[in-house]
Amino acid sequence: MQPSNIRNFAIIAHIDHGKSTLADRIMEQTATVSQRERQDQLLDDLAVERAHGVTVKSRTVRNFYQAEDGQEYEYNLIDTPGHVDFTYEVSKSLAASDGAILLVDATQGVQAQTVANLRLARENQLVVIPVINKIDAAAADVDRTTQQIRALGGDLATATIYRISAKTGLGVHAVMEAIRTTIPAPSGRATAPLKALVFDSQYDAFKGIIAAVRVVDGQLTAQEPLRLMAHNQALTAKEIGVLAPNRTATARLGVGEVGYVITGFKDPHALRVGDTLTSATTPTATALPGYQPAQSVVYAGFYPQGDHYRDLQLAVEKLALNDSSFHYRAETSDALGPGFRCGFLGIFHLQIIRERLHDEYGLDVLTTAPNVTYRVHVARETDPVVVDNPIKFPDFSQIEWVEEPLAQATITTTSDTLSAVMKLAEQHQGTLEDMANQGDLIVLTYQLPFSEIAYDFFNTLKSVSHGYATLTTELAGYAPADVVKIEVHVNYARVDALSFVVHRQDVARVTQALVHQLKTVIPRKLYPMPVQAVVEGKAVARVDVPPLRKNAAVNGEQRSTSKKQALLRRQSKNKRQASHSEIELPQAVFNAVLDLE
Ligand code: GDP
Ligand code: MG
Repeated sequence: MQPSNIRNFAIIAHIDHGKSTLADRIMEQTATVSQRERQDQLLDDLAVERAHGVTVKSRTVRNFYQAEDGQEYEYNLIDTPGHVDFTYEVSKSLAASDGAILLVDATQGVQAQTVANLRLARENQLVVIPVINKIDAAAADVDRTTQQIRALGGDLATATIYRISAKTGLGVHAVMEAIRTTIPAPSGRATAPLKALVFDSQYDAFKGIIAAVRVVDGQLTAQEPLRLMAHNQALTAKEIGVLAPNRTATARLGVGEVGYVITGFKDPHALRVGDTLTSATTPTATALPGYQPAQSVVYAGFYPQGDHYRDLQLAVEKLALNDSSFHYRAETSDALGPGFRCGFLGIFHLQIIRERLHDEYGLDVLTTAPNVTYRVHVARETDPVVVDNPIKFPDFSQIEWVEEPLAQATITTTSDTLSAVMKLAEQHQGTLEDMANQGDLIVLTYQLPFSEIAYDFFNTLKSVSHGYATLTTELAGYAPADVVKIEVHVNYARVDALSFVVHRQDVARVTQALVHQLKTVIPRKLYPMPVQAVVEGKAVARVDVPPLRKNAAVNGEQRSTSKKQALLRRQSKNKRQASHSEIELPQAVFNAVLDLE
Protein backbone atom coordinates (compact mmCIF):
# COMPACT_ATOMS: atom_id res chain seq x y z
CA MET A 1 0.00 0.00 0.00
CA GLN A 2 1.28 3.47 -0.80
CA PRO A 3 2.06 5.48 2.34
CA SER A 4 -0.58 8.13 1.57
CA ASN A 5 -3.28 5.47 2.14
CA ILE A 6 -1.83 4.09 5.38
CA ARG A 7 -2.86 5.21 8.87
CA ASN A 8 -1.13 3.90 12.00
CA PHE A 9 -3.00 4.62 15.19
CA ALA A 10 -3.50 3.47 18.73
CA ILE A 11 -6.54 3.52 20.97
CA ILE A 12 -5.81 4.94 24.39
CA ALA A 13 -8.17 5.16 27.33
CA HIS A 14 -8.69 4.54 30.98
CA ILE A 15 -9.24 0.88 31.85
CA ASP A 16 -12.70 -0.45 30.91
CA HIS A 17 -13.58 2.56 28.80
CA GLY A 18 -14.02 0.27 25.80
CA LYS A 19 -10.77 0.06 23.80
CA SER A 20 -10.99 -3.63 23.09
CA THR A 21 -14.68 -3.36 22.20
CA LEU A 22 -13.95 -0.55 19.76
CA ALA A 23 -11.11 -2.62 18.28
CA ASP A 24 -13.65 -5.41 17.71
CA ARG A 25 -16.00 -2.99 15.89
CA ILE A 26 -13.20 -1.65 13.70
CA MET A 27 -12.18 -5.16 12.67
CA GLU A 28 -15.80 -5.93 11.89
CA GLN A 29 -16.41 -2.79 9.84
CA THR A 30 -13.32 -3.52 7.79
CA ALA A 31 -14.27 -7.19 7.43
CA THR A 32 -10.92 -8.10 8.99
CA VAL A 33 -12.65 -10.69 11.08
CA SER A 34 -15.21 -13.00 9.57
CA GLN A 35 -18.53 -13.74 11.23
CA ARG A 36 -17.19 -17.17 12.09
CA GLU A 37 -14.20 -15.87 14.02
CA ARG A 38 -16.18 -13.25 15.86
CA GLN A 39 -15.76 -13.24 19.61
CA ASP A 40 -15.87 -10.42 22.17
CA GLN A 41 -12.54 -8.74 22.95
CA LEU A 42 -10.97 -10.81 20.23
CA LEU A 43 -7.53 -9.36 20.80
CA ASP A 44 -7.38 -10.20 24.49
CA ASP A 45 -6.20 -13.73 23.82
CA LEU A 46 -3.94 -14.27 26.80
CA ALA A 47 -5.72 -16.28 29.47
CA VAL A 48 -4.88 -13.63 32.10
CA GLU A 49 -6.55 -11.02 29.94
CA ARG A 50 -9.73 -13.02 29.67
CA ALA A 51 -9.65 -13.75 33.41
CA HIS A 52 -9.18 -10.12 34.47
CA GLY A 53 -11.02 -8.57 31.52
CA VAL A 54 -8.08 -6.29 30.85
CA THR A 55 -5.55 -6.00 28.06
CA VAL A 56 -2.00 -6.68 29.16
CA LYS A 57 -0.15 -6.91 25.88
CA SER A 58 -0.52 -4.52 23.00
CA ARG A 59 -1.43 -6.08 19.70
CA THR A 60 -1.39 -4.83 16.19
CA VAL A 61 -3.95 -5.56 13.52
CA ARG A 62 -3.99 -4.58 9.87
CA ASN A 63 -7.38 -3.66 8.46
CA PHE A 64 -8.39 -2.61 4.96
CA TYR A 65 -10.98 0.14 4.99
CA GLN A 66 -13.16 1.17 2.04
CA ALA A 67 -13.51 4.89 2.66
CA GLU A 68 -16.23 7.28 1.53
CA ASP A 69 -13.75 8.86 -0.92
CA GLY A 70 -13.82 5.61 -2.89
CA GLN A 71 -10.27 4.64 -1.95
CA GLU A 72 -8.98 1.76 0.07
CA TYR A 73 -6.92 2.49 3.19
CA GLU A 74 -4.67 0.34 5.32
CA TYR A 75 -5.54 0.95 8.97
CA ASN A 76 -2.99 -0.45 11.37
CA LEU A 77 -4.62 -0.53 14.75
CA ILE A 78 -2.63 -0.96 17.94
CA ASP A 79 -4.70 -1.94 20.95
CA THR A 80 -3.03 -0.83 24.16
CA PRO A 81 -3.30 -1.83 27.80
CA GLY A 82 -4.98 0.65 30.14
CA HIS A 83 -3.88 -0.33 33.64
CA VAL A 84 -1.50 1.97 35.48
CA ASP A 85 1.08 -0.80 35.68
CA PHE A 86 1.27 -1.06 31.90
CA THR A 87 2.05 2.48 30.87
CA TYR A 88 5.29 1.16 29.46
CA GLU A 89 3.43 -0.99 26.92
CA VAL A 90 1.33 2.02 26.00
CA SER A 91 4.35 4.19 25.28
CA LYS A 92 5.86 1.48 23.04
CA SER A 93 2.65 1.27 21.04
CA LEU A 94 2.54 5.01 20.68
CA ALA A 95 6.06 5.19 19.27
CA ALA A 96 4.85 3.10 16.34
CA SER A 97 1.73 5.24 15.78
CA ASP A 98 0.99 8.59 14.10
CA GLY A 99 -2.29 9.22 15.83
CA ALA A 100 -4.42 8.08 18.72
CA ILE A 101 -8.08 7.69 19.47
CA LEU A 102 -8.63 8.97 22.99
CA LEU A 103 -11.62 7.04 24.24
CA VAL A 104 -13.61 8.32 27.23
CA ASP A 105 -16.46 6.42 28.86
CA ALA A 106 -19.52 8.71 29.05
CA THR A 107 -20.63 7.09 32.30
CA GLN A 108 -17.32 7.78 34.01
CA GLY A 109 -15.87 10.79 32.26
CA VAL A 110 -12.22 11.73 32.13
CA GLN A 111 -10.19 9.62 34.55
CA ALA A 112 -6.62 9.68 35.76
CA GLN A 113 -5.38 7.24 33.15
CA THR A 114 -7.13 9.21 30.41
CA VAL A 115 -4.96 12.15 31.41
CA ALA A 116 -1.77 10.08 31.75
CA ASN A 117 -2.25 8.42 28.35
CA LEU A 118 -3.01 11.73 26.70
CA ARG A 119 0.25 13.08 28.07
CA LEU A 120 2.11 10.12 26.51
CA ALA A 121 0.39 10.70 23.17
CA ARG A 122 1.33 14.36 23.24
CA GLU A 123 4.93 13.50 24.10
CA ASN A 124 4.97 11.32 20.98
CA GLN A 125 3.51 14.19 18.91
CA LEU A 126 0.46 12.16 17.96
CA VAL A 127 -2.71 13.63 16.51
CA VAL A 128 -5.45 12.87 19.01
CA ILE A 129 -9.07 12.14 18.07
CA PRO A 130 -11.33 12.52 21.13
CA VAL A 131 -14.17 9.99 21.25
CA ILE A 132 -16.90 9.61 23.87
CA ASN A 133 -17.94 5.97 24.25
CA LYS A 134 -20.94 4.17 25.80
CA ILE A 135 -23.47 6.83 24.81
CA ASP A 136 -26.05 4.01 24.76
CA ALA A 137 -25.66 3.45 28.51
CA ALA A 138 -28.40 4.79 30.81
CA ALA A 139 -25.83 6.47 33.05
CA ALA A 140 -24.10 8.26 30.16
CA ASP A 141 -23.52 11.97 30.73
CA VAL A 142 -22.31 13.14 27.35
CA ASP A 143 -22.41 16.88 28.10
CA ARG A 144 -20.35 16.58 31.23
CA THR A 145 -17.85 14.29 29.52
CA THR A 146 -17.60 16.79 26.64
CA GLN A 147 -16.78 19.59 29.09
CA GLN A 148 -14.15 17.43 30.77
CA ILE A 149 -12.49 16.67 27.43
CA ARG A 150 -12.52 20.35 26.50
CA ALA A 151 -10.87 21.11 29.85
CA LEU A 152 -7.90 18.91 28.85
CA GLY A 153 -6.80 21.86 26.74
CA GLY A 154 -4.54 22.05 23.71
CA ASP A 155 -6.18 20.85 20.50
CA LEU A 156 -8.93 19.24 22.52
CA ALA A 157 -10.39 22.61 23.47
CA THR A 158 -11.70 22.95 19.91
CA ALA A 159 -11.40 19.50 18.26
CA THR A 160 -14.44 17.62 16.96
CA ILE A 161 -15.50 15.20 19.67
CA TYR A 162 -17.07 12.00 18.32
CA ARG A 163 -19.83 10.20 20.20
CA ILE A 164 -20.16 6.46 19.85
CA SER A 165 -21.33 3.22 21.29
CA ALA A 166 -18.57 0.71 20.68
CA LYS A 167 -21.03 -1.90 21.85
CA THR A 168 -23.76 -1.28 19.26
CA GLY A 169 -21.52 0.28 16.60
CA LEU A 170 -23.44 3.58 16.67
CA GLY A 171 -21.23 6.45 15.44
CA VAL A 172 -18.23 4.21 14.76
CA HIS A 173 -18.35 4.91 11.02
CA ALA A 174 -17.72 8.63 11.59
CA VAL A 175 -14.65 7.71 13.64
CA MET A 176 -13.45 5.47 10.79
CA GLU A 177 -13.63 8.48 8.45
CA ALA A 178 -11.97 10.79 11.00
CA ILE A 179 -9.00 8.42 11.19
CA ARG A 180 -8.16 8.97 7.53
CA THR A 181 -9.01 12.68 7.47
CA THR A 182 -7.21 13.76 10.66
CA ILE A 183 -4.36 11.34 11.32
CA PRO A 184 -1.39 12.00 9.02
CA ALA A 185 -0.13 9.36 6.61
CA PRO A 186 3.31 8.02 7.56
CA SER A 187 6.17 10.10 6.27
CA GLY A 188 9.26 8.23 5.16
CA ARG A 189 11.39 7.78 2.08
CA ALA A 190 10.74 4.67 0.02
CA THR A 191 14.10 4.91 -1.76
CA ALA A 192 16.18 5.36 1.41
CA PRO A 193 17.92 2.38 3.05
CA LEU A 194 15.69 0.23 5.22
CA LYS A 195 15.02 1.55 8.71
CA ALA A 196 12.42 -0.26 10.81
CA LEU A 197 11.50 0.13 14.47
CA VAL A 198 11.22 -3.06 16.52
CA PHE A 199 8.38 -2.06 18.83
CA ASP A 200 7.47 -5.40 20.33
CA SER A 201 8.53 -9.03 20.40
CA GLN A 202 7.11 -12.36 21.24
CA TYR A 203 8.41 -15.91 21.66
CA ASP A 204 6.83 -18.73 19.73
CA ALA A 205 7.66 -22.29 20.76
CA PHE A 206 8.10 -23.38 17.13
CA LYS A 207 9.29 -20.27 15.34
CA GLY A 208 11.45 -18.60 17.97
CA ILE A 209 11.50 -14.84 18.35
CA ILE A 210 8.96 -12.88 16.36
CA ALA A 211 9.51 -9.12 16.17
CA ALA A 212 6.77 -6.55 15.62
CA VAL A 213 8.13 -3.82 13.34
CA ARG A 214 7.13 -0.58 11.75
CA VAL A 215 8.95 0.33 8.54
CA VAL A 216 10.08 3.95 8.75
CA ASP A 217 12.18 4.22 5.56
CA GLY A 218 12.84 1.87 2.63
CA GLN A 219 11.27 -1.53 2.34
CA LEU A 220 11.57 -4.83 4.09
CA THR A 221 11.65 -8.01 1.99
CA ALA A 222 11.87 -11.61 3.04
CA GLN A 223 15.03 -12.37 1.05
CA GLU A 224 17.19 -9.45 2.09
CA PRO A 225 19.98 -10.01 4.62
CA LEU A 226 19.21 -7.85 7.66
CA ARG A 227 21.02 -6.34 10.58
CA LEU A 228 19.92 -5.27 14.07
CA MET A 229 21.76 -2.08 14.89
CA ALA A 230 22.08 -2.23 18.71
CA HIS A 231 24.54 -5.15 18.66
CA ASN A 232 25.28 -5.20 14.95
CA GLN A 233 23.69 -8.60 14.69
CA ALA A 234 23.06 -10.28 11.34
CA LEU A 235 19.73 -11.86 10.61
CA THR A 236 17.81 -13.40 7.74
CA ALA A 237 14.07 -13.25 8.12
CA LYS A 238 12.44 -16.66 8.00
CA GLU A 239 9.17 -14.95 7.11
CA ILE A 240 7.71 -11.47 7.13
CA GLY A 241 4.05 -10.59 7.19
CA VAL A 242 1.17 -8.73 8.74
CA LEU A 243 -1.21 -9.45 11.59
CA ALA A 244 -4.68 -9.57 10.14
CA PRO A 245 -5.21 -10.36 13.04
CA ASN A 246 -3.51 -13.75 12.61
CA ARG A 247 -0.05 -13.94 11.06
CA THR A 248 -0.27 -13.70 7.28
CA ALA A 249 2.95 -13.88 5.25
CA THR A 250 3.70 -11.12 2.72
CA ALA A 251 6.55 -10.57 0.28
CA ARG A 252 7.35 -7.05 1.46
CA LEU A 253 6.52 -4.29 3.92
CA GLY A 254 6.78 -0.74 2.62
CA VAL A 255 7.10 2.72 4.20
CA GLY A 256 4.72 3.15 7.14
CA GLU A 257 3.62 -0.46 7.17
CA VAL A 258 3.42 -2.43 10.35
CA GLY A 259 4.01 -6.18 10.54
CA TYR A 260 6.10 -8.99 11.94
CA VAL A 261 9.46 -10.60 11.23
CA ILE A 262 10.16 -14.20 12.18
CA THR A 263 13.80 -13.82 13.13
CA GLY A 264 14.71 -17.46 13.55
CA PHE A 265 16.45 -16.53 16.82
CA LYS A 266 15.92 -19.09 19.53
CA ASP A 267 17.86 -17.20 22.18
CA PRO A 268 15.41 -14.91 23.97
CA HIS A 269 18.20 -12.36 24.56
CA ALA A 270 18.93 -11.93 20.86
CA LEU A 271 16.41 -9.16 20.27
CA ARG A 272 15.82 -5.91 22.11
CA VAL A 273 12.58 -4.00 21.79
CA GLY A 274 13.37 -0.47 20.60
CA ASP A 275 16.15 -1.66 18.29
CA THR A 276 16.43 -0.59 14.65
CA LEU A 277 16.31 -3.17 11.88
CA THR A 278 18.19 -2.30 8.69
CA SER A 279 19.63 -3.91 5.56
CA ALA A 280 22.94 -5.75 5.92
CA THR A 281 24.06 -4.76 2.43
CA THR A 282 22.92 -1.11 2.31
CA PRO A 283 22.49 -0.14 5.96
CA THR A 284 21.09 3.16 7.16
CA ALA A 285 23.57 5.51 8.82
CA THR A 286 21.66 6.33 11.99
CA ALA A 287 19.49 4.20 14.25
CA LEU A 288 16.08 5.28 15.51
CA PRO A 289 15.94 6.83 18.98
CA GLY A 290 14.60 3.65 20.70
CA TYR A 291 13.04 3.55 24.14
CA GLN A 292 14.03 4.30 27.67
CA PRO A 293 14.33 0.96 29.43
CA ALA A 294 11.53 0.45 31.97
CA GLN A 295 12.55 0.95 35.55
CA SER A 296 11.51 -1.76 37.98
CA VAL A 297 9.83 -0.51 41.12
CA VAL A 298 8.97 -3.69 42.97
CA TYR A 299 11.12 -6.80 43.32
CA ALA A 300 10.31 -10.31 44.49
CA GLY A 301 11.97 -13.72 44.39
CA PHE A 302 10.48 -16.43 42.17
CA TYR A 303 11.39 -19.98 43.18
CA PRO A 304 10.41 -23.20 41.43
CA GLN A 305 8.28 -25.74 43.23
CA GLY A 306 9.76 -29.20 42.92
CA ASP A 307 12.67 -29.60 40.50
CA HIS A 308 11.42 -27.17 37.85
CA TYR A 309 14.33 -24.74 37.95
CA ARG A 310 15.20 -25.20 34.28
CA ASP A 311 11.55 -24.86 33.22
CA LEU A 312 11.24 -21.68 35.25
CA GLN A 313 14.41 -20.30 33.72
CA LEU A 314 13.12 -20.86 30.19
CA ALA A 315 9.75 -19.39 31.09
CA VAL A 316 11.10 -16.18 32.64
CA GLU A 317 13.44 -15.70 29.66
CA LYS A 318 10.52 -15.92 27.28
CA LEU A 319 8.27 -13.72 29.39
CA ALA A 320 10.98 -11.07 29.65
CA LEU A 321 11.17 -11.10 25.87
CA ASN A 322 7.44 -10.69 25.52
CA ASP A 323 7.29 -8.04 28.24
CA SER A 324 10.40 -5.89 28.25
CA SER A 325 9.34 -4.18 31.48
CA PHE A 326 9.79 -7.48 33.35
CA HIS A 327 13.36 -8.07 34.55
CA TYR A 328 15.00 -11.05 36.21
CA ARG A 329 18.33 -12.44 37.30
CA ALA A 330 19.40 -15.66 39.00
CA GLU A 331 19.67 -15.71 42.79
CA THR A 332 20.00 -18.40 45.43
CA SER A 333 18.29 -18.59 48.80
CA ASP A 334 19.45 -20.85 51.65
CA ALA A 335 15.90 -21.84 52.35
CA LEU A 336 14.59 -22.17 48.79
CA GLY A 337 17.64 -22.97 46.68
CA PRO A 338 18.15 -21.52 43.20
CA GLY A 339 15.57 -19.11 41.83
CA PHE A 340 15.21 -15.64 40.33
CA ARG A 341 15.04 -12.09 41.60
CA CYS A 342 12.44 -10.40 39.43
CA GLY A 343 11.68 -6.72 38.87
CA PHE A 344 8.19 -5.38 38.14
CA LEU A 345 6.47 -2.08 37.43
CA GLY A 346 4.07 -2.69 40.32
CA ILE A 347 2.22 -5.33 42.31
CA PHE A 348 -0.44 -5.86 39.66
CA HIS A 349 2.32 -6.47 37.13
CA LEU A 350 3.81 -9.08 39.49
CA GLN A 351 0.44 -10.78 39.79
CA ILE A 352 -0.01 -10.83 36.02
CA ILE A 353 3.43 -12.37 35.48
CA ARG A 354 2.71 -15.04 38.08
CA GLU A 355 -0.55 -15.89 36.39
CA ARG A 356 1.08 -15.98 32.98
CA LEU A 357 3.66 -18.46 34.33
CA HIS A 358 0.77 -20.59 35.49
CA ASP A 359 -1.41 -20.26 32.38
CA GLU A 360 1.20 -20.27 29.65
CA TYR A 361 3.93 -22.44 31.17
CA GLY A 362 2.07 -24.57 33.73
CA LEU A 363 4.41 -23.35 36.48
CA ASP A 364 3.36 -22.39 39.99
CA VAL A 365 6.14 -20.38 41.56
CA LEU A 366 6.85 -19.57 45.16
CA THR A 367 6.88 -15.80 45.42
CA THR A 368 8.68 -14.06 48.26
CA ALA A 369 7.35 -10.86 49.78
CA PRO A 370 7.81 -7.98 47.33
CA ASN A 371 10.10 -5.11 48.21
CA VAL A 372 11.38 -1.85 46.75
CA THR A 373 15.03 -0.93 46.15
CA TYR A 374 17.00 0.70 48.94
CA ARG A 375 20.22 2.66 48.74
CA VAL A 376 22.20 1.76 51.80
CA HIS A 377 25.13 3.96 52.83
CA VAL A 378 27.63 1.90 54.75
CA ALA A 379 30.66 3.00 56.76
CA ARG A 380 33.79 3.84 54.78
CA GLU A 381 32.14 3.58 51.36
CA THR A 382 31.38 6.59 49.20
CA ASP A 383 28.76 4.94 46.98
CA PRO A 384 25.61 3.45 48.46
CA VAL A 385 24.92 -0.26 48.15
CA VAL A 386 21.81 -0.75 46.01
CA VAL A 387 19.72 -3.46 47.64
CA ASP A 388 16.81 -5.06 45.81
CA ASN A 389 16.78 -8.17 47.97
CA PRO A 390 16.28 -7.94 51.75
CA ILE A 391 18.69 -10.86 52.24
CA LYS A 392 21.44 -8.58 50.94
CA PHE A 393 20.54 -5.73 53.29
CA PRO A 394 23.84 -4.93 55.08
CA ASP A 395 24.14 -5.68 58.79
CA PHE A 396 22.76 -2.84 60.92
CA SER A 397 26.14 -2.31 62.56
CA GLN A 398 27.54 -1.29 59.16
CA ILE A 399 24.75 1.04 58.11
CA GLU A 400 25.13 4.80 58.33
CA TRP A 401 21.91 5.78 56.62
CA VAL A 402 19.42 4.44 54.09
CA GLU A 403 17.51 6.01 51.22
CA GLU A 404 14.21 4.70 49.93
CA PRO A 405 12.42 5.40 46.62
CA LEU A 406 9.68 8.01 46.62
CA ALA A 407 6.60 7.94 44.46
CA GLN A 408 4.86 10.89 42.96
CA ALA A 409 1.30 9.64 43.08
CA THR A 410 -1.56 11.27 41.24
CA ILE A 411 -4.90 10.27 42.69
CA THR A 412 -8.08 11.30 40.96
CA THR A 413 -11.25 10.99 42.98
CA THR A 414 -14.72 12.37 43.63
CA SER A 415 -15.43 15.16 46.13
CA ASP A 416 -17.50 12.98 48.45
CA THR A 417 -14.68 10.44 48.83
CA LEU A 418 -11.97 13.10 49.13
CA SER A 419 -11.61 13.03 52.90
CA ALA A 420 -11.35 9.22 53.03
CA VAL A 421 -8.72 9.26 50.29
CA MET A 422 -6.70 11.99 51.98
CA LYS A 423 -6.80 10.13 55.26
CA LEU A 424 -5.50 7.00 53.57
CA ALA A 425 -2.66 8.90 51.89
CA GLU A 426 -1.67 10.46 55.22
CA GLN A 427 -1.67 7.06 56.92
CA HIS A 428 0.83 6.02 54.27
CA GLN A 429 3.14 8.95 54.98
CA GLY A 430 1.91 10.95 52.01
CA THR A 431 2.78 14.63 51.67
CA LEU A 432 0.19 16.56 49.71
CA GLU A 433 1.88 18.55 46.96
CA ASP A 434 -1.00 19.75 44.85
CA MET A 435 -4.76 19.64 44.66
CA ALA A 436 -6.72 20.72 41.58
CA ASN A 437 -10.15 20.34 40.08
CA GLN A 438 -10.61 18.52 36.79
CA GLY A 439 -14.26 18.97 36.01
CA ASP A 440 -16.15 17.22 38.81
CA LEU A 441 -13.07 15.31 39.88
CA ILE A 442 -10.33 16.28 42.26
CA VAL A 443 -6.77 15.52 41.31
CA LEU A 444 -4.42 15.09 44.28
CA THR A 445 -0.67 14.91 43.92
CA TYR A 446 1.20 13.25 46.77
CA GLN A 447 4.75 12.34 47.45
CA LEU A 448 5.05 9.18 49.49
CA PRO A 449 7.44 6.28 50.00
CA PHE A 450 7.09 3.70 47.22
CA SER A 451 7.06 0.93 49.82
CA GLU A 452 3.85 2.42 51.20
CA ILE A 453 2.00 1.91 47.93
CA ALA A 454 3.80 -1.19 46.72
CA TYR A 455 1.48 -3.64 48.44
CA ASP A 456 -2.18 -3.08 49.00
CA PHE A 457 -2.53 0.68 48.66
CA PHE A 458 -4.29 0.46 45.31
CA ASN A 459 -6.93 -1.97 46.57
CA THR A 460 -7.51 0.03 49.76
CA LEU A 461 -7.80 3.20 47.72
CA LYS A 462 -10.42 1.54 45.54
CA SER A 463 -12.41 0.42 48.57
CA VAL A 464 -12.34 3.71 50.52
CA SER A 465 -13.42 5.54 47.37
CA HIS A 466 -16.11 2.99 46.45
CA GLY A 467 -14.17 2.16 43.30
CA TYR A 468 -13.96 5.74 42.03
CA ALA A 469 -10.40 6.77 42.75
CA THR A 470 -7.63 6.09 40.28
CA LEU A 471 -3.93 6.12 40.80
CA THR A 472 -0.90 6.71 38.65
CA THR A 473 2.60 6.70 40.05
CA GLU A 474 6.01 7.76 38.96
CA LEU A 475 9.41 7.35 40.55
CA ALA A 476 10.27 10.72 42.10
CA GLY A 477 13.78 10.01 43.39
CA TYR A 478 15.19 8.78 46.70
CA ALA A 479 14.99 10.21 50.21
CA PRO A 480 16.50 9.27 53.59
CA ALA A 481 14.37 6.79 55.49
CA ASP A 482 14.47 5.13 58.88
CA VAL A 483 14.06 1.52 57.83
CA VAL A 484 15.15 -1.76 59.38
CA LYS A 485 15.32 -5.35 58.25
CA ILE A 486 13.08 -7.89 59.93
CA GLU A 487 14.47 -11.40 59.98
CA VAL A 488 12.37 -14.43 60.72
CA HIS A 489 13.91 -17.23 62.76
CA VAL A 490 12.14 -20.55 62.92
CA ASN A 491 13.43 -22.96 65.53
CA TYR A 492 16.39 -20.60 66.08
CA ALA A 493 17.49 -20.74 62.46
CA ARG A 494 17.14 -17.70 60.20
CA VAL A 495 14.93 -18.29 57.17
CA ASP A 496 16.53 -15.92 54.67
CA ALA A 497 13.67 -15.92 52.17
CA LEU A 498 11.32 -14.46 54.78
CA SER A 499 13.39 -11.34 55.48
CA PHE A 500 11.86 -7.99 54.65
CA VAL A 501 12.41 -4.30 55.26
CA VAL A 502 9.98 -1.90 56.98
CA HIS A 503 9.87 1.58 58.43
CA ARG A 504 11.02 1.51 62.04
CA GLN A 505 7.74 3.01 63.26
CA ASP A 506 5.89 -0.07 61.98
CA VAL A 507 8.13 -2.69 63.59
CA ALA A 508 6.02 -3.44 66.67
CA ARG A 509 2.74 -3.72 64.79
CA VAL A 510 4.15 -5.69 61.87
CA THR A 511 6.21 -8.20 63.86
CA GLN A 512 3.35 -9.06 66.24
CA ALA A 513 0.99 -9.61 63.34
CA LEU A 514 3.62 -11.59 61.47
CA VAL A 515 4.48 -14.16 64.12
CA HIS A 516 0.80 -14.82 64.79
CA GLN A 517 0.14 -15.29 61.08
CA LEU A 518 3.13 -17.58 60.73
CA LYS A 519 1.96 -19.69 63.66
CA THR A 520 -1.02 -20.78 61.64
CA VAL A 521 0.71 -21.42 58.32
CA ILE A 522 4.12 -22.93 59.10
CA PRO A 523 3.69 -26.70 58.76
CA ARG A 524 3.89 -28.30 62.20
CA LYS A 525 6.56 -30.74 63.26
CA LEU A 526 6.63 -33.36 66.01
CA TYR A 527 8.19 -30.81 68.35
CA PRO A 528 7.19 -27.23 69.17
CA MET A 529 9.04 -24.59 67.14
CA PRO A 530 9.59 -21.02 68.24
CA VAL A 531 9.02 -18.42 65.53
CA GLN A 532 10.80 -15.15 66.21
CA ALA A 533 10.97 -11.82 64.46
CA VAL A 534 14.45 -10.43 64.89
CA VAL A 535 15.37 -6.78 64.36
CA GLU A 536 18.92 -5.53 64.69
CA GLY A 537 19.98 -8.70 66.46
CA LYS A 538 17.14 -8.67 69.02
CA ALA A 539 14.04 -10.87 69.06
CA VAL A 540 11.11 -8.47 69.16
CA ALA A 541 8.22 -10.92 68.83
CA ARG A 542 7.79 -14.63 69.38
CA VAL A 543 5.20 -17.37 69.22
CA ASP A 544 5.55 -21.15 69.32
CA VAL A 545 4.23 -23.28 66.51
CA PRO A 546 2.61 -26.14 68.45
CA PRO A 547 3.81 -29.68 67.78
CA LEU A 548 1.91 -32.04 65.56
CA ARG A 549 1.36 -34.54 68.39
CA LYS A 550 0.37 -33.92 71.91
CA ASN A 551 3.19 -33.74 74.40
CA ALA A 552 4.00 -37.16 75.80
CA ALA A 553 4.77 -35.70 79.21
CA VAL A 554 1.28 -34.39 79.86
CA ASN A 555 -0.89 -36.56 77.65
CA GLY A 556 -0.62 -40.29 77.42
CA GLU A 557 -1.88 -41.12 80.86
CA GLN A 558 -2.75 -44.59 79.69
CA ARG A 559 0.80 -45.43 78.83
CA SER A 560 3.36 -46.88 81.15
CA THR A 561 6.07 -44.60 82.53
CA SER A 562 8.80 -46.31 80.54
CA LYS A 563 6.91 -45.85 77.28
CA LYS A 564 6.36 -42.19 78.09
CA GLN A 565 10.05 -41.79 78.74
CA ALA A 566 10.93 -43.50 75.49
CA LEU A 567 8.61 -41.15 73.62
CA LEU A 568 10.10 -38.14 75.32
CA ARG A 569 13.58 -39.29 74.39
CA ARG A 570 12.56 -39.65 70.77
CA GLN A 571 10.94 -36.24 70.72
CA SER A 572 13.96 -34.49 72.21
CA LYS A 573 16.20 -36.25 69.67
CA ASN A 574 13.94 -35.04 66.88
CA LYS A 575 14.20 -31.55 68.27
CA ARG A 576 17.97 -31.60 68.27
CA GLN A 577 18.13 -32.86 64.72
CA ALA A 578 15.73 -30.28 63.45
CA SER A 579 17.40 -27.70 61.24
CA HIS A 580 15.95 -24.89 59.24
CA SER A 581 16.36 -26.83 56.03
CA GLU A 582 13.62 -29.16 57.22
CA ILE A 583 11.11 -26.38 57.51
CA GLU A 584 8.79 -26.46 54.58
CA LEU A 585 7.84 -23.11 53.14
CA PRO A 586 4.53 -23.27 51.32
CA GLN A 587 3.27 -20.15 49.53
CA ALA A 588 0.99 -19.47 52.53
CA VAL A 589 4.07 -18.64 54.60
CA PHE A 590 5.11 -15.91 52.16
CA ASN A 591 1.55 -14.69 51.93
CA ALA A 592 1.68 -14.15 55.71
CA VAL A 593 4.32 -11.49 55.06
CA LEU A 594 2.31 -10.08 52.16
CA ASP A 595 -0.90 -9.88 54.16
CA LEU A 596 0.67 -7.60 56.74
CA GLU A 597 0.13 -4.40 54.87
P1 GDP B 1 -10.98 -1.81 27.73
O1 GDP B 1 -10.50 -2.16 29.12
O2 GDP B 1 -10.84 -0.34 27.50
O3 GDP B 1 -10.39 -2.66 26.65
O4 GDP B 1 -12.56 -2.05 27.77
P2 GDP B 1 -13.43 -3.20 27.12
O5 GDP B 1 -13.53 -3.06 25.66
O6 GDP B 1 -12.93 -4.49 27.65
O7 GDP B 1 -14.87 -2.82 27.74
C1 GDP B 1 -15.12 -2.76 29.12
C2 GDP B 1 -16.58 -3.04 29.39
O8 GDP B 1 -17.39 -2.01 28.86
C3 GDP B 1 -17.06 -4.33 28.75
O9 GDP B 1 -17.96 -4.96 29.63
C4 GDP B 1 -17.80 -3.85 27.50
O10 GDP B 1 -18.81 -4.73 27.10
C5 GDP B 1 -18.37 -2.53 27.96
N1 GDP B 1 -18.55 -1.59 26.85
C6 GDP B 1 -17.64 -1.25 25.91
N2 GDP B 1 -18.17 -0.36 25.05
C7 GDP B 1 -19.44 -0.13 25.44
C8 GDP B 1 -20.51 0.69 24.94
O11 GDP B 1 -20.41 1.39 23.94
N3 GDP B 1 -21.66 0.67 25.65
C9 GDP B 1 -21.84 -0.08 26.76
N4 GDP B 1 -23.03 -0.04 27.36
N5 GDP B 1 -20.88 -0.88 27.25
C10 GDP B 1 -19.69 -0.92 26.60
MG1 MG C 1 -9.06 -4.19 26.60
